[in-house]
Amino acid sequence: MRLQQTIKKEVLFQGVGLHAGRHATVKLKSAPVDTGIVFYRRGSGTIMRANISSVIDTGFATTIGVNGTRIKTVEHLLAAIAGLGIDNLIIEVDGLEIPILDGSSTKLVKLILAAGITKQMKRIPFIKIVKPIVYEDGYSRVVALPYNGTRISYYINFEHQLLGQQELILDINAETFIEEIAPARTFGFLSDVKKLRTNGFVKGGSLDNVVIIGGNSVLNATGLRFKDEFVRHKMLDSIGDLSLIGFPIEGHIIMERSGHTTNINFLRKLVSSIDCYTLVSEVDYLSYRVLN
Ligand SMILES: [Zn+2]
Repeated sequence: MRLQQTIKKEVLFQGVGLHAGRHATVKLKSAPVDTGIVFYRRGSGTIMRANISSVIDTGFATTIGVNGTRIKTVEHLLAAIAGLGIDNLIIEVDGLEIPILDGSSTKLVKLILAAGITKQMKRIPFIKIVKPIVYEDGYSRVVALPYNGTRISYYINFEHQLLGQQELILDINAETFIEEIAPARTFGFLSDVKKLRTNGFVKGGSLDNVVIIGGNSVLNATGLRFKDEFVRHKMLDSIGDLSLIGFPIEGHIIMERSGHTTNINFLRKLVSSIDCYTLVSEVDYLSYRVLN
């Protein structure tokens, strides 16, 4: 059971949002123990916790909101925060949507590492899976199993020559996140772009921030960063979404063809399946250590 962590110095980044196509500035600020991850929307002054109760939309991105104020596409930032093991943070957002940057979490990881991560004087509670949980919605399935650590297994199965079936099984920690997951970019099909734009999505999308698949090739001049970049990006999204439960999860999460909607619905089922997990707090941990 590790100590809680926050950042040492403020982090600033800005850019265009993938879906709304609007510019935004984001500041990450350190926060005291037990704060959690909290969004603060400048202008309206609205405070939103990074928690499943704040999620208001999961179509093509995860959007949080309260009382009519929303922040779109929070998942890549949340993935960087969770992947680096940061527990307490204020995220001040001046705009509608978190900037997409290069479509991955690489720049966010670099900025946070440059600012520095500091340990705080209290342990972080965690959710320990003690009995299997299965969530299915017809097309997708998520299973959580007891496991000594945090492991995600991810399977995608597209009827497409370039993507096809890809699977990745990874024990998640800061090192594996930085090396294996953070650089994987958002992807989409050229054939979907027009329809998505008509419906108000991907207005800020370009070859600079999305891997575009046209026919059976990637249109980006630089190609792919990994042969299986697609499944890696799906895992990045799921790490961001899973963090919305509010605590690290100790368990093995097996995700088949999952997306934002399934990820969030799985978390809602997990939270209500009270016999399948325990929340291990510092007090439990210390008494466990004494007893054992
Ligand atoms: Zn994504």
